[in-house]
Amino acid sequence: MGWTLSDLPFFDARHRALGERLAALPPPAHPEPRGAEEVARRSRESLRWIAGSGLLDIVVPRADASGARRIDVRALCLVREFFGYHDLLADTMFTMQGIGTAALWLAGTAAQQQRYLDRCRAGESIAALALTEPEAGSDVAALATTARREGDHFVIDGAKTLITNAGIADHYIVIARTGEEPGARGLSAFMLDAGTPGLEVGEPIDLIAPHPLGSLRFDGCRVPADALIGAPGQGFKAAMAVFDIFRPSVGAAGVGVARRALDEALGHVRQRVLFGKPMARLEGVQARIADMATDTETAALAVYRAAWAKDVTGGRCSREASMAKLVGSEAAQRVVDAAVQLFGGRGITKGYMVEQLYREVRGMRIYEGASEVQRMIIARDLLA
Ligand SMILES: Cc1cc2nc3c(=O)[nH]c(=O)nc-3n(C[C@H](O)[C@H](O)[C@H](O)COP(=O)(O)OP(=O)(O)OC[C@H]3O[C@@H](n4cnc5c(N)ncnc54)[C@H](O)[C@@H]3O)c2cc1C
Repeated sequence: MGWTLSDLPFFDARHRALGERLAALPPPAHPEPRGAEEVARRSRESLRWIAGSGLLDIVVPRADASGARRIDVRALCLVREFFGYHDLLADTMFTMQGIGTAALWLAGTAAQQQRYLDRCRAGESIAALALTEPEAGSDVAALATTARREGDHFVIDGAKTLITNAGIADHYIVIARTGEEPGARGLSAFMLDAGTPGLEVGEPIDLIAPHPLGSLRFDGCRVPADALIGAPGQGFKAAMAVFDIFRPSVGAAGVGVARRALDEALGHVRQRVLFGKPMARLEGVQARIADMATDTETAALAVYRAAWAKDVTGGRCSREASMAKLVGSEAAQRVVDAAVQLFGGRGITKGYMVEQLYREVRGMRIYEGASEVQRMIIARDLLA
């Protein structure tokens, strides 16, 4: 092409420099981990590698001269696109250090920030966000975990599930009901250290693709009052502000996955001979490849626009963020599916990258709000 994506007008010089840094830094290639123990070990190793590469400064931002901490969403997206292409487990570990600390750098006290952020940025401790419950996923307002004030403590009771890093995290941001008001307005955010009495970690949840995932139980779990992040009743707002920043980046990881699937497919159709000639010379194959590339680039533009809008305005950009998440994750699924089809039986054979991508890509349309939830947010914004 003669130009790189970070040459697009949505990006500036520091993003171009980051693009060059990433190009020189492909993550170590390794076989897919199997079983919860291996996934946990590989997750920790990945985080150490990412910390060593200095990339965690992007997801756990340092305070600027005015004391404010702001994430560069375009940089976040470039890194996630890179990990989407190379290693989705590394993508998870990179991203969760941000998602699992964002409420702290958005609304935490100086003491809370000092206690947790430097260690997370150095990859010395692992972060997590515990929002989802067995009976409340898409409908966050239905959360039932409670945090009851008792003197200078809160007592947390309830359960969380589908929590990334559950069991390997050193601390959790937990969203629980403090009950000032019903629905989403009665939710508050707390910082909880692993090992706090009354916090129990369940068995790992075994997904179709490697992902450190598990559940948590809170049984009379006492935390000091200063574990509250921000004001009581601001938990939902904090979670939504975090998603506003991170949703475009899910789309970016999707773009990375789609680019990888396209590259795998291009390599295959050039060398596979069908009906006496390379597959690449069949018109039907060419049309499929063209659709895959167009789908990928269209999604990339939606992602870059959302990231740019967030960086430039600094305000809420929920509609753009949801569009980017929706388009990026749905395009990734279509492109990976098309790649599998081009590989034929090999496409669903263990050991082929497209088979792995086919399993790995599926969660993107569900986590951080399923596609249907993103459509709901977009429509509500348009109809408001
Ligand atoms: C890999 C992975 C990692 C995750 N990590 C975390 C984490 O770190 N922390 C955390 O708190 N949670 C995490 N989650 C949970 C995730 O956020 C939830 O799975 C998601 O919000 C959906 O909730 P649910 O699974 O309970 O599905 P439900 O809420 O039961 O929804 C089921 C389906 O209903 C459909 N649906 C939803 N709303 C509508 C609607 N309005 N109209 C029509 N259909 C609709 C969607 O297709 C949805 O998939 C993770 C999930 C996965 C898969």
